[in-house]
Amino acid sequence: MTRFSGRAALVTGAAGGIGAAIVRMLRAEGARVAVADRDTSGIEADAHLPGDLRDPAYSDGLPAAAAAALGRLDIVVNNAGVITRGKVTETTDADWALSVGVNVEAPFRISRAAIPILAAAGGGAIVNTASCWGLRPGPDHAVYCMTKAALASLTQCMGMDHAHQGIRINAVCPNEVNTPMLRTGFIRRGFDPDTAVAELGKTVPLGRIAEPEDIADVVLFLASDAARYMCGSLVEVNGGKPVK
Ligand code: NAD
Repeated sequence: MTRFSGRAALVTGAAGGIGAAIVRMLRAEGARVAVADRDTSGIEADAHLPGDLRDPAYSDGLPAAAAAALGRLDIVVNNAGVITRGKVTETTDADWALSVGVNVEAPFRISRAAIPILAAAGGGAIVNTASCWGLRPGPDHAVYCMTKAALASLTQCMGMDHAHQGIRINAVCPNEVNTPMLRTGFIRRGFDPDTAVAELGKTVPLGRIAEPEDIADVVLFLASDAARYMCGSLVEVNGGKPVK
């Protein structure tokens, strides 16, 4: 028996850095996993549910589609996210719609649809990928920080409101993670990503920025029975470097 044998999970952002690690590690521990992302063709999984999270009908339908494909649903990981840079005065309508749509509205829609399915089965777990910037904002990413704060608050509210149904809803709040999201940001600003990641690592008390598996391990813990008394928690994973 492994930690997740017999369990079924839905993971969004499954093609990304953290999402791919979550999928791989859940499956290695016995879960069957339905993967959601714009393109899921390269991912080893038990069900493929590609689509655009900005499409409300797609997000509304994902939990039922995962439950139908896997025969049950126990775990939902709202991990997909987008980052837009800039102060409010530099934020376009398109940046706003994208950030709010993917980072807030999609987890809201997916959770709203998943909760009755999990409740009918006697309970389950939802894990959201927020950010340490949702707890304390950093500079020049106003709307990104706001969306992650909204997701953190939604997690705390849902964690309270649905605990009595046996549904535990928590969030992981990473600081910098070595994924395409971070690396493409460096490339856009003209930096070599390997050098930039190494330099950034020197600012972390633990001596390096996180790898996706460092975050996925905490997501799996929150999804597991070991976190059975955790509801509405925001778990910071930062190598000793909180945002000031
Ligand atoms: P990533 O860019 O590697 O992965 C994000 C995934 O989300 C991508 O595969 C992308 O295709 C998917 N996605 C984005 N918009 C979508 C849409 N409209 N429809 C469907 N899928 C969509 O980034 P990552 O670093 O793995 O990020 C995962 C989560 O971790 C995000 O919520 C991010 O905000 C959060 N996070 C990342 C960091 C970091 O430093 N990398 C830090 C804190 C929090």
